Amino acid sequence: MSLAPFKPSQQVDFVAIGSGAAGGVMAKELATAGLSVVVIEQGPYLRERISSTTSSA
Ligand SMILES: Cc1cc2nc3c(=O)[nH]c(=O)nc-3n(C[C@H](O)[C@H](O)[C@H](O)COP(=O)(O)OP(=O)(O)OC[C@H]3O[C@@H](n4cnc5c(N)ncnc54)[C@H](O)[C@@H]3O)c2cc1C
Repeated sequence: MSLAPFKPSQQVDFVAIGSGAAGGVMAKELATAGLSVVVIEQGPYLRERISSTTSSA
């Protein structure tokens, strides 16, 4: 499984709209199975250090 920038001319097997609990897990499982997936997320790109779900404890 590799992460690469998506080019609009590129053909993929699946498009996940939203990288939430459903879309994110589905995209990961499909990619792990060898299928090409692009995830489209309307929200900001969250890095680990600014994620609201990252605990500092
Ligand atoms: C305060 C709160 C606490 C919760 N606590 C728990 C808990 O403890 N345990 C639990 O099991 N569940 C909990 N839930 C429920 C859980 O968050 C949801 O059931 C789950 O997130 C739903 O997943 P989802 O992928 O359908 O939607 P979401 O996780 O909401 O993901 C949807 C994603 O799609 C994106 N999106 C939407 N429209 C578009 C568009 N047109 N184009 C591109 N991207 C788009 C959004 O930006 C978002 O990232 C909680 C919910 C809330 C609000």
